[in-house]
Amino acid sequence: MSDVGVWISQPACNIKVAAKADVVVVGGGPAGFSAAISAARNGVKVILLERYNYLGGLASGGMVLLLDDMWDNHLQEISVRGVMLTVIERMAAMGLATYPRADEWGSDPASLRRWTRWGAFDFHTHSKPHPICFAAAFDPDAWRRVALDMVQEHRIQLRLHSWFSSTLVEDGKVKGVICNTKEGTEAILGDVVIDATGDLDVAVSAEAPYIGGRYMLTTVFRLGGVDTDEAERFEREEPEAFAQMDKEIKQILGGSWGLWWLKTPLPGVVWCNCPHMLGLDGVNVEDLTTAEIKGRKHIYATLDYVRGKLPGFERCFVVDVAPQTGVRQTRLLEGEYVLTKEDLAERTRFADSIARGRDYYMPYRVLVPKVIENLLVAGRHFSATSQAQKMSREIPPCMAMGEAAGTAAALSLDAGVLVRNVDTSTLQRTLRTQGADPGDQTSRNADIPALAMARRFLETHEKSN
Ligand SMILES: Cc1cc2nc3c(=O)[nH]c(=O)nc-3n(C[C@H](O)[C@H](O)[C@H](O)COP(=O)(O)OP(=O)(O)OC[C@H]3O[C@@H](n4cnc5c(N)ncnc54)[C@H](O)[C@@H]3O)c2cc1C
Repeated sequence: MSDVGVWISQPACNIKVAAKADVVVVGGGPAGFSAAISAARNGVKVILLERYNYLGGLASGGMVLLLDDMWDNHLQEISVRGVMLTVIERMAAMGLATYPRADEWGSDPASLRRWTRWGAFDFHTHSKPHPICFAAAFDPDAWRRVALDMVQEHRIQLRLHSWFSSTLVEDGKVKGVICNTKEGTEAILGDVVIDATGDLDVAVSAEAPYIGGRYMLTTVFRLGGVDTDEAERFEREEPEAFAQMDKEIKQILGGSWGLWWLKTPLPGVVWCNCPHMLGLDGVNVEDLTTAEIKGRKHIYATLDYVRGKLPGFERCFVVDVAPQTGVRQTRLLEGEYVLTKEDLAERTRFADSIARGRDYYMPYRVLVPKVIENLLVAGRHFSATSQAQKMSREIPPCMAMGEAAGTAAALSLDAGVLVRNVDTSTLQRTLRTQGADPGDQTSRNADIPALAMARRFLETHEKSN
């Protein structure tokens, strides 16, 4: 008889307490990084835990190289600010992030021609071609550099190579987490823990209620040696031949968005947000392994085709396949409020609003688990229906949630209250002071620091593009 599927027990063991802080953030992706920075800014001691040897999560390791979903088409303004804009600003100063300036937004033909292959367009509008809007293309290593610099500037205790394994809970209160490391099993204690693992690892281990979610997986890759001018010329001047070839490439890829390649700040290097693979679970080891094997087969078949046929791609080569599998959605918190697609479509406003995405708003309650204390979540596993998460999971709103969670953790410790009881008007005020936009005011008409920051930001960088 096979032993597979049988449960075995292990002897109880003693675990060393390796570190302790006021706030422990698990996961160094966009949400966890923002949470750590904002908690530290508010005067508490922070530990940031990450399983890999770099920060950025899907933004760097997943090579998701476009920051979008931060342009409010209704209010015609940048809707995610705070830490997000600081990171863009720093990467742009290195020449490793680029975005359309205010005078290029809209449907001017020259602007469309210049920016469409960067992906800087508003794909939520029905009009085609989609108008150009504020979105930033960036380099993955620039993200790692900026994140590491900022973590050190804020005196955050960073522990890389630390793989979260379980949550320490006593009487319904989270006390810390257990990590697997090369040194063995370690306990990291904290007064508040923020789960930013993207897959809700910490909250699930603490037995917080959650909803099972799933979406397609992608092995993102980059091609180098591409003559992008020639590729764009072919697309523009030979539309029928282009359309036929584009169709064939997408069949070989087995699933892709409309534009299967986009420009990056590195000359001749493009990123490919494909192939898309359906029916696989992003927290299942066998499915994740299948995705890597299947995804690479699609990539190499595509490479052969484009080298042989596609103008501009004759001398291209694979620069890299993303070290992290592209997992968009797995387990989602069932928190104090569950955001729905109707909330997004109707642009529902909340009295406890703490973050904005494109043109939608998020209440504090989507970060708060129902039964467990001293725990917040931030990022793509926030409390939303599966459909709503698919429309609101981009990097900027995840960073806005992280900024709110980190600030809330610090405020709760300062006030001596549970995180679920944080005064949300104080939280909103603090976020605005930091340059973030919690979405509690009609910001177009309000003279708030966040808006001034966005204006200053665009003016400063007007000449850098
Ligand atoms: C293929 C693809 C394309 C996308 N395209 C775009 C796009 O064009 N623009 C856009 O803005 N967004 C895009 N997204 C969405 C966006 O990338 C994610 O929603 C966003 O990165 C989520 O941020 P996060 O911090 O919540 O999670 P993640 O980026 O997943 O970060 C989670 C972090 O936690 C760490 N972690 C996880 N488990 C553990 C553990 N057990 N122990 C320790 N550390 C752990 C991870 O290593 C990682 O660093 C895309 C996503 C995918 C997959």
